[in-house]
Amino acid sequence: MFQKILIANRGEIALRIQRACRELGIGTVAVHSTADSDAMHVRLADESVCIGPPAAKDSYLNIPAILSAAAITGADAIHPGYGFLSENARFAEMVEAHGLTFIGPSPAHIRMMGDKIAAKSAMAGLGVPLVPGSDGEVPDLATARAVAGEIGYPVLVKAAAGGGGRGMKVAQTAAELDEAFRTARSESAAAFGNDQVYLEKYLDRPRHIEFQVMADSHGSVVHFGERDCSLQRRHQKLLEEAGSPALSAGARDRMGATVTAALRELGYRNAGTLEFLYQDGQFAFIEMNTRLQVEHPVTEMVCGIDLVREQIRIADGEKLGYTQADVRFSGHAIECRITAEHPDTFVPSPGRVTAFHAPGGLGVRVDSALYAGYVVPPYYDSMVAKLIVHAPTRAEAIARLRRALDEFAVLGIETTLALHRRIVDDPSFQRGDYTIHWLEHFVGDPSS
Ligand code: ADP
Repeated sequence: MFQKILIANRGEIALRIQRACRELGIGTVAVHSTADSDAMHVRLADESVCIGPPAAKDSYLNIPAILSAAAITGADAIHPGYGFLSENARFAEMVEAHGLTFIGPSPAHIRMMGDKIAAKSAMAGLGVPLVPGSDGEVPDLATARAVAGEIGYPVLVKAAAGGGGRGMKVAQTAAELDEAFRTARSESAAAFGNDQVYLEKYLDRPRHIEFQVMADSHGSVVHFGERDCSLQRRHQKLLEEAGSPALSAGARDRMGATVTAALRELGYRNAGTLEFLYQDGQFAFIEMNTRLQVEHPVTEMVCGIDLVREQIRIADGEKLGYTQADVRFSGHAIECRITAEHPDTFVPSPGRVTAFHAPGGLGVRVDSALYAGYVVPPYYDSMVAKLIVHAPTRAEAIARLRRALDEFAVLGIETTLALHRRIVDDPSFQRGDYTIHWLEHFVGDPSS
């Protein structure tokens, strides 16, 4: 087993990985920017190395600095967390080239799934159903018009290198296509340095349902069920549930079997998530994430499994040691992503946290790197805490979430706690009756 793991990340996810390492008896190395010297992930690590100034491109995305930190501290593996370098195939290659283990999939699979056009084509070949759309890249407007005419409006222009909801534009009619095509391309070129786009049918009332998969390097693949991540603003998830209020156990088993068969065929290794849109009882693949996801705790709660521990064991060459039949689902879990933003305007609110009280009690988990006196820096993602609840039924999970949100206090900065309290009180949410568009209307932001 590894002696020491360097965690190439910050905040709650760095802490989450440290916790798994500690329980496995593995030493931890934190890396941090100068803006994060007082961060909790630095305080709780066994060792820490400053890797650069605040801007992420000079620190958390600075591959030579991270590899040097690993060499100096004698780490034998690197866990990338999510975001930053977690889906950078070149980074994974360089980690391996330096004689270290990258805790994640092979660089080839990271690269394949990072190109959404290649990912869709690979999945189609493996028998996974897709959202109807262009057959590959759409190089020009004339092709876009022809494809949209075939699949029918509304259509979505999407960036091949997309992520975080960027480079995605809807055209409701042919008249809107020129503008959507041009803006998706230029947004994608600016954000990802790649202006390749493709077209998909824009589904009017789907749910976002994704499957968590884990594969070892000996050919075993299991899935840990689905997460419903339909509550989104600007295509970004805000609240997630496991399981989905819309899916039967039979439908889960059927899709789970398709997904695991596909990844077995692909020879995939480590953790991955296949994302689908689900409408009228049909699944349609949109993309695969080749990393741990922000919302992984809801899966951990219903399956009683530590996904980071599994990632580390697999990266070390161990076998899964269980089969699909051994994976059991118990109860219901919900996660709220709490960001340092105004709950109505979503204006970012970095600054000093003057008081911090996390809720507790049965079935309540808080993954956060906040503490009283901590200054939330303005340079990084605004998510500062995840509140996860678990209970025997969805109704009990909602009641537990309501009381946990009431106990949760973060003073000194604005947070979205108040928004989550409103969502949880809403009758449609309580009935599980929502699609990916529900939250935009709820927050009065339907243009997003
Ligand atoms: P990203 O990688 O930028 O997150 P995704 O392809 O995962 O992009 O899509 C993000 C979200 O955008 C989805 O969860 C869904 O809400 C919405 N979306 C994506 N494709 C479609 C589609 N064809 N029709 C309707 N909504 C879509």
